[in-house]
Amino acid sequence: MSEYDGYEPVIGLEIHAQLQTESKIFCGCKNAYGEPPNTLTCPVCLGLPGALPVLNKQAVEKAIKMILAVGGKVRNRSVFARKNYFYPDLPKGYQISQFDKPIGEGGEIFFSLEDGTKKSCRLTRIHIEEDAGKSLHPEKGEGYTRVDLNRCGTPLIEIVSEPEMRSPEEAYAYFVKVKQILQYTKVCSGDMEKGHLRCDANISVRPVGQEEFGTRTEIKNMNSFKGVERAIKFEIQRQVKLLKSGGSVTQATLLWDESRQVAEAMRSKEESHDYRYFPEPDLVNLVVKDDWIESVRENMPELPNEKSERFVKDYQIRAYDAMVLTDTTSLADYYDEVMQYTKDGRTAANWVQSELLGVLKESGDDISTFKVRPNMIADIVNKIESKEISGKMAKQVFAEMVETGKGADAIIKEKGLVQISDEKQLLMIIDNILLANSGNVDKYKSGKTNIFGFFVGQVMKETKGQANPEVVNRLLKQKLDG
Ligand code: ADP
Ligand code: MG
Ligand code: ZN
Repeated sequence: MSEYDGYEPVIGLEIHAQLQTESKIFCGCKNAYGEPPNTLTCPVCLGLPGALPVLNKQAVEKAIKMILAVGGKVRNRSVFARKNYFYPDLPKGYQISQFDKPIGEGGEIFFSLEDGTKKSCRLTRIHIEEDAGKSLHPEKGEGYTRVDLNRCGTPLIEIVSEPEMRSPEEAYAYFVKVKQILQYTKVCSGDMEKGHLRCDANISVRPVGQEEFGTRTEIKNMNSFKGVERAIKFEIQRQVKLLKSGGSVTQATLLWDESRQVAEAMRSKEESHDYRYFPEPDLVNLVVKDDWIESVRENMPELPNEKSERFVKDYQIRAYDAMVLTDTTSLADYYDEVMQYTKDGRTAANWVQSELLGVLKESGDDISTFKVRPNMIADIVNKIESKEISGKMAKQVFAEMVETGKGADAIIKEKGLVQISDEKQLLMIIDNILLANSGNVDKYKSGKTNIFGFFVGQVMKETKGQANPEVVNRLLKQKLDG
């Protein structure tokens, strides 16, 4: 039986991404976050009568970049359209968007689930539009709602998927992959806390085996990746329960309340004809010639999946580790740089993932400026590999590095952390220990071999943990069994 009582979820996402541009989409106002309210405005983005929009070339270039990054097709001639609706944060009374002739069509996102299963989801379209302002509602019902129009006219792309996802986990992984591509290409910061990346989820369910889609609802206002996953799960369960009890799903727009973990009706679903779309009379058609498209394609950076495949191939690491290490460009660059100084991809991957990321998570430091630089981690990895230090000592060295920013050699010297692998030296210690513990030696020889660990422990104690455990084990076995 399926996870949802015989029903299969169908999910399509609409992702809005703010483009990282210097200025807004139709005026020269700065495109910035966190400035005092209403200081980044002009007649154009305030929608004052008679003010005319002029399209920002950088915004178009970023849109083209994302379309190409996902394997979509850039339309040579696309058309801006007016989408009419009233909202207090939309002074013009309409949003300039694209409707039947968007700049981008098609494309596909390839992503993996946590367990490694590979999936993909095709895209319907990517279009350019402008953002609206922001209403600032009073807390606890006191005072008035105010409006900040700094965000008006911020360039956006909307990335619309086909309804091809079949679980909340898929939607999560898809969304994370889209964010990753946006960040790798520097099209969008991907910062959800600042609202630079927003997602609406369309959800329906159908009996397993049924071809036809069920009635969908759309959830808005989700502000974290896990929030999207939770909201979708909630809505699937709600719809299934409703259908099971003989009810039917009403098409509606829902708002997700993260604190209470519920989705509630916001408004009945609007249809596209409600918006009275028509071609934007203040803008000419957007013409993008092939040579422009090609020059953007030529300047495409290495994309997350390509990087991940390269890591697997060149550094011999597992696909899962490669996925973790390519999560952000800064992490991937760090690991790439570690690998300039060492040959041991797997140990290096482990160190970056567990030790380094562990420390960064706790301290909140930024990896690209963190005092433990890639060559320093590589030094530790090389010293483990050459058996100069043990894994345990390596952790001590690393802790000291994080503390002081000193290099491995200096720390090893200061702390006397050298591993003893010299057989003659170790044999002498072992002989003494066996002599002093002849009772235990007899026990071992009479078959109580589980006290082997006792002898190892004694050697470690004697050498203050500096003996190379591999060599100690081998020598002890020779002595006791031989
Ligand atoms: P709008 O939401 O503006 O009306 P569309 O009708 O193009 O736009 O659909 C938006 C999103 O809804 C797309 O991502 C699409 O994949 C998804 N979608 C369409 N039908 C369904 C359905 N029955 N169940 C789930 N998602 C759907
Ligand atoms: Mg929609
Ligand atoms: Zn402006």
